[in-house]
Amino acid sequence: MKNIMFIAPPAAGKGTQAELVVDKYHIPHISTGDILRDISKEDSEIGHYVFETLSSGKLVKDEITYQLIEERLKNSDCRNGFIIDGFPRTLNQAIEYDKILANLGYSIGNVIYININEKTLEKRITGRRICEDCKTIYNINDPNNAPQIESICDNCGGKLYQRNDDNLASFQTRYKMYQEKTEPILNHYREMNVLHEVNGEDTVENVFNEIDKIISE
Ligand code: AMP
Repeated sequence: MKNIMFIAPPAAGKGTQAELVVDKYHIPHISTGDILRDISKEDSEIGHYVFETLSSGKLVKDEITYQLIEERLKNSDCRNGFIIDGFPRTLNQAIEYDKILANLGYSIGNVIYININEKTLEKRITGRRICEDCKTIYNINDPNNAPQIESICDNCGGKLYQRNDDNLASFQTRYKMYQEKTEPILNHYREMNVLHEVNGEDTVENVFNEIDKIISE
């Protein structure tokens, strides 16, 4: 199957949609945000740097992301397709990613752009909760997507937590960063004829159906 890349502003539902794709197609989900959140827990110089950067909503240094992406893509589980989410986030990263893929003999695959309004995102950001263990994503403000018992994961019984960058101040920095740095990537992929747009305002199920149509074409 073709590789899949998600491009979307923060809290647009990339992570939720990626999980649904993983459940159906059993390919690895590579999220630079998830990998960096794990690194941010380490009691080391890089752990502290990543923790501070993530909390501020800014981007971590390119060299760190290149290294972690390349290492992860070399893993044999990526040979039959993978989902990349959160990378590339700038035009420079996109250009570097083209090179990383070429070196490993992979193609870009389908790039899926989840288009969604800023006001919708603001509403979502404060309600997002994530399972510490299985990483399932909920939204306590959305009756269709709330956990049955607050702070407990429906799937595995794990504890739900709120990301420490899921507050309005950090969201605004991340959103501005997205507009300035990530949106220009859309044209890069449009010109390569690999970009597909889906309407992120729709329900989780309908967005997934749209994505599934693209993937299975
Ligand atoms: P996400 O989970 O995709 O929203 O990412 C959370 C945070 O991780 C971002 O706000 C950045 O600080 C950092 N991050 C994730 N991906 C990248 C990337 N490709 N380049 C730089 N920083 C990143």
